[in-house]
Amino acid sequence: MIIFLLVLFVGSVFLIHYLDRTLTSSSETEIKSSSDESLAVMSQGASSEPLPDSNFKISMPLAFPVVGMNREMILDIRDSRLPGAPRTYRGANARHQGIDFYTGKCDIPVVAVADGWIIDVSVGEQFPNAARRNAILDVALKAGFTPSPILENLNGGSLLIYHGWNDSGVCYYSRSSHFERLFGGWKIGDFVRRGEIIGYVGASGTSSQFKSKDEKKIGCHLHFEWHEVSGGEDNPLGFDERDNDLKRNLYYNLFESDGS
Ligand SMILES: [Zn+2]
Repeated sequence: MIIFLLVLFVGSVFLIHYLDRTLTSSSETEIKSSSDESLAVMSQGASSEPLPDSNFKISMPLAFPVVGMNREMILDIRDSRLPGAPRTYRGANARHQGIDFYTGKCDIPVVAVADGWIIDVSVGEQFPNAARRNAILDVALKAGFTPSPILENLNGGSLLIYHGWNDSGVCYYSRSSHFERLFGGWKIGDFVRRGEIIGYVGASGTSSQFKSKDEKKIGCHLHFEWHEVSGGEDNPLGFDERDNDLKRNLYYNLFESDGS
C-alpha cells in the first residue's frame, strides 16, 4: 500500500513537471511567433510605401494646397492668373496652363491635394542668373510657343503627382511649381498623402527669383495645374475658351470648403 502511494506521488510529481514544461514551452512559442509577426509588420511598414497603382481611385474634393489659405481666394483671382491666359513673354501663342495662388510671401507650406505618387521632380533654381533666363526666353519667343523643356525650366522647383482614376476612366495628376524649396527629398515613385507637406511657396523659375528678398515676396506664388487625362488626351483644367468666371468656379468646386 505504501509502495503504491509512493509510486502515485512520484508519478504525480513527474506529471505536474511535464505539464508545466509543456505549457511553458507552448506559451513561449506563442510569444515568439507573435513577436516575429509584429517584427515582420514593422519592417514591412518601415521599408516600403505602396507602389504606384494603375487602378488607384481618386478621392475628391481636393485639399486646398496652400496652408493658411482656402478656396475663397479663387473667386478673386485676376484673369491673367487663370488657365488659358496669354503668356507672350514666352511665345506669341503661349498660354498659362494652371492657376496662380499669390501668397504675398515665400516659404508658406504647400500640401498634396490628394493621395498619390510622385511622377516627376524638378529641383528648381535652374537659371544661374536673369541674363541666362532671358536668353532662354528669346528661344521661345522666336519659336512662337514655349517648347516643353523650356517650360520645365520656367516651372522651377516642381512636383508632378499622379492621383488615380475616377469611375468613368478619367486619370488625374497635378503639377505644383515655383517652390522655394521642396520638402522631404522626394524621389519619383514616392507615395504622398493628402495634406502632407510637399514644398514651400517660392518664385523659382520666375523673373522674381533674381530679385531682392523684399521684392521677391511680391512674386511668390504657387502655380497649380490639375490635369484630366481621358481618351488619350491630357487636358489641364480650364485650359480652353470658357468664360473666366466659369474657370474660377471650376477650380473653386475642385477644393473642399474648410481650407484644411
Ligand atoms: Zn502660373
